[in-house]
This record gives sequence, C-alpha cells and structure tokens, in this order.
Amino acid sequence: MRSEPWFVNAIARSPSLIEYSSGLKTLDTIYLDTSFVEDIDFPTKSEGIRELLQKVSRYPADTVFHFQAWTYGYEDVWIALSKALGSKTQTFQIHVDEYKMLMFRSLVATNPNEKFASSLHLCPEAPGLVGFMCGNTYHAGCLTRDETARLHSCEKGNYCTTVKNSSVVWIRPIITRLPDGQTVAELGVGGGGDDLEREAELDYLSPEDVKSLLEA
Ligand SMILES: [Zn+2]
Repeated sequence: MRSEPWFVNAIARSPSLIEYSSGLKTLDTIYLDTSFVEDIDFPTKSEGIRELLQKVSRYPADTVFHFQAWTYGYEDVWIALSKALGSKTQTFQIHVDEYKMLMFRSLVATNPNEKFASSLHLCPEAPGLVGFMCGNTYHAGCLTRDETARLHSCEKGNYCTTVKNSSVVWIRPIITRLPDGQTVAELGVGGGGDDLEREAELDYLSPEDVKSLLEA
C-alpha cells in the first residue's frame, strides 16, 4: 500500500500510538484509504522531487515553467523548486492565483489587536510558502502574486498573462511509472482532485431569482 516510509516511522514513534504499534494494546478498527491497493511500486516523494529538480535544472535560466498543482500535497515541491532555482540573494518565487494565495496565507495566524504579535504558522510548510519574520527582518515565501515570475502554478483555465504569452514548459506531476514505462497521472483519486482549483458553488441568478430576492 502506498505510504511514505517517514509516515510509517512517525506512526510507530507517535506517543499516542506507541502502545498499539508495540503490541501492548490492539486497535479495534483501522480505516484505510484504499485508493491504491494494487501491487504497484510508488517512488517516495523525495525521489520524485529529486527527478523533477534534475529535469528542471537542464533548462536555460530564462525558461518559463507551469507546474500543475490542483490538489494539496505539492507544498514541498514548490519549496524545493524555489530553493533549487533561486540564489542566496534572490528568492525564486512561484506565481499562484489569488485563491491559492489566500488559502495558504490563512495558515498564518496573528493577533490583530497586538502590534508586535508574533505569527503562528499552522503547518510546517507555511513559513516557506507565504513568508515569515525572523527578528526584525521579513523573509518572503516562495508563493507570489507577481505574474513576472518564471514558475507558475496559476489556475488552470484562467492562466496569467505571462503563461498565456510565453513559450511554457508544462510540468504535469505523475505518481509512478508502470513496468512497461507507462506513466500514471495524479488524478486525485478518492476526492480532493480539484481542491486547489476555484469552482463556483452557486448557480448564476436568473431574473426570476433576483425578482424573488427583491420581494423577500
Ligand atoms: Zn501565472
């Protein structure tokens, strides 16, 4: 079953689960995500990131890339790409649409009533994604709303001007290669397949709807 080795180790070491992982107690029920139960080898995320960095580094320094991230879980990839393509003096940033930016910015909580309140990052990737203060110095995150960026993960179907007007190298993540060399695309099996894509949840209002709202 597909599971990152670090995740399995973390479960075994978790203080809440150690009684169970060491056999002292028995769990009544285990719920498993059975999206991938076939006998297929999956590379680890770090192996995938290493392959991606090797490929990306072969392109000229002015190449414009678009990395398709339509589901959660690619935060490490953004941070790794930004670090690999950036320099000591320049943060390499990734252009994202407003929806993704707002979503990741919401992972930083600050008390608005305190002028010098420190920020609380709600997940380990948040500082690398949206920036953080170290002492009195602000360090930018790898995500940006600046369309002049060279790497883009802006919304499918509503690409920014740079992506529309450039010769773009498209990076489409795969989850594994089958023994015959065929690639298996990330389809977001089991839900979450489009949770980073903005979808209108309300239908358009008809003139009748507007009329009934005005009368209400
Ligand atoms: Zn863009």
